[in-house]
Amino acid sequence: MNIILFGPQGSGKGTQAETIAKDYGLYHLSMGEELRKEIKAKTPIGKKVESIMAKGELVPVEITSQIAIKISKLKESKKGIVFDGYPRSPEQWAFMNKNFKIDAAIELDLSEKESVNRIASRRTCPKCGKNYNLIYLKPKVAGICDVDKEKLIQRNDDKPKEIKKRLEIYHSQTEPLKKEYQKLKILSIIDGEQSIEKVHTDIAKILKKK
Ligand code: ADP
Repeated sequence: MNIILFGPQGSGKGTQAETIAKDYGLYHLSMGEELRKEIKAKTPIGKKVESIMAKGELVPVEITSQIAIKISKLKESKKGIVFDGYPRSPEQWAFMNKNFKIDAAIELDLSEKESVNRIASRRTCPKCGKNYNLIYLKPKVAGICDVDKEKLIQRNDDKPKEIKKRLEIYHSQTEPLKKEYQKLKILSIIDGEQSIEKVHTDIAKILKKK
């Protein structure tokens, strides 16, 4: 089973994708996280994308295609993939539609105001990439990752100017893909302003029917 989870920045895609992947034995492909891993490992891809990501812009389609294919060949993704943060543009969707069969595309809907609020209070573990939120999803010890005990940081693209840029791209390039999902009858929309547990229950209901 392959699932696309999409929604504006801060809609909780990452948190939900992680749980759904565990529930169904799927691979959680967070495109942002995969790219950050490349940067950390100083690979040729990492070097290419670092400044693009810091500005909040989309990295070239060849790179996301390469990553999607690489992940699809892993044995951990044999049962399928939860795509988080991919596809984000018509070009990416064209590639994906050719190479993957998608069973569900689930949108986590969120107002612009709430999106900005949530990102401003987001904190990330620099080691494992796990996201926390100062209001909604606090770590057990303030400022420290539950898993790695690392000090949490604010991502450099989680600052106001870069957030605005990412939201603009979401509305102009990613949201219009809804029309394509609708045509394929795989689109479902969930209210992303509900609690984490309620959003999870709603997603599970949709997937049960697949
Ligand atoms: P968010 O969804 O909050 O923007 P991510 O961690 O998913 O955060 O993505 C961070 C950045 O990584 C994006 O702003 C972009 O630069 C890059 N990125 C992630 N996914 C894609 C993608 N599918 N296509 C192009 N660039 C991407």
